Parts: sequence; C-alpha cells; structure tokens
Amino acid sequence: MKVVQCWDDGVVTDLRLIEILYKYNAKATFNLCPGKMTEERQEPRWAAPGYSGWSCRGFFGGHIGSRELYGVYKDFQVASHCWQHECAGKVPDEDFIKAALDARHYLEDVFGRPCPGFAWPCSCHTPETCDLLRENGFAYARVVAETDDVTAFEDPMLLVPSCHFQARDFYARFENAKKTGVFYFWGHSYEMMDSPGMWQQLEDKIAWISRDPEAEWADVIDIVKAK
Ligand SMILES: [Zn+2]
Repeated sequence: MKVVQCWDDGVVTDLRLIEILYKYNAKATFNLCPGKMTEERQEPRWAAPGYSGWSCRGFFGGHIGSRELYGVYKDFQVASHCWQHECAGKVPDEDFIKAALDARHYLEDVFGRPCPGFAWPCSCHTPETCDLLRENGFAYARVVAETDDVTAFEDPMLLVPSCHFQARDFYARFENAKKTGVFYFWGHSYEMMDSPGMWQQLEDKIAWISRDPEAEWADVIDIVKAK
C-alpha cells in the first residue's frame, strides 16, 4: 500500500515535523503560501490576550522565511496553497487563479522543478475554480473530507484524503485502506502546538507506518499519476 501525507500552510512547526520525517525516511508534500512569508521566519508563539488573528487554540505556528524556504523543504514535494491562502469563491475567480499560479510559479523557481499540486485553502472550491485549475495545468487539488477509498476519485481537482492525522480512528483507517492500496492523511503541524504528547503521537504513527512491511511511503502526485 502506498502511504502519502501532506501538510499545509508553511509554518515553523514544520521544522520539528521534518526532523521526524527524516528519522523514518518518510515522504511528504507541503502546501505553501509564499505570499505569507517574510524574508526571515516568523517564530511560533502563544497569542497575547486580545490577539484576533489566525491561531490553533491560541497557538500561532509562525511562517517559514523565504530565505530558508529551499533548505527546509528541498527533500520533499511542495505545492501551491495560493499566494496568501486566498479561498476560492470568496475572492473573484481571476484573483483566485492568479494567487494559485503565482504560488506555483514562485515554488517552481525556488525549487527548480514542476509543482503541479494544489490544496484548496479552507477547502473552498467551486465548479468554476476546479475548471480554472485544470485549464492551467494543475494535476490535482485536495479538499478536506474523509474517504475509505482515496483511489475512487472521479475528478483529481476534488482529491479526498483518507483522514486528518489526528482522526480518532487513524489506525483503523490505515488498516482498512490496505484494501484500496492508498492511505492518505493530512494536517497542519501547528495543530500539535508545543504539546509533547501530541508530537509523540504523531511520531508513533509515522514509526508505525514505516515499520509495516505492507506500507510504502509515496508522494501525493504519485497516486494521482497512478490513476
Ligand atoms: Zn491552509
């Protein structure tokens, strides 16, 4: 069975995640928003009282800096998550596709390889924006949902993963996916905040998968191409 994972938003907690991925030789795809980056990284932190921005239970995951972008993700797949996390259907379609393409082209320049993947910011999508991604050569676009059969997708612009990495039935879903040949989980590394227990649970999952002789790490693009 091929096992794929992807992680969104290009946050600084990805550094801790990537240490775990290296330790177990695991592959992953990172969905990035280059327009959120400043030259130097924005450090993760617990939000001050009154902070009204984006956070996970008050924890802000920070952003990887553009200066370190290549070094951090060079051994993994990277994909567009729009320039600044623009949500399809909430901005004009022409602004959406520009944001999707600007991120892709930026990543292709930095990494020197094609980056045809996409993850829908906030999972927002419309029939029109699916067509726009397709027309502009994107290979797939991931939504937020769960499926028992990742390979059953009819439209790669609506690619559904098996589950979130913190799904209660993660291990059962992993076993069940062996019938279909693909297990795909996703998440944001900042969801583990600075909780040692949550990070250990994730490491346990990565270790478990790596030890399973029936499981083989692959990239999201591989499962789309295999269809
Ligand atoms: Zn996102």
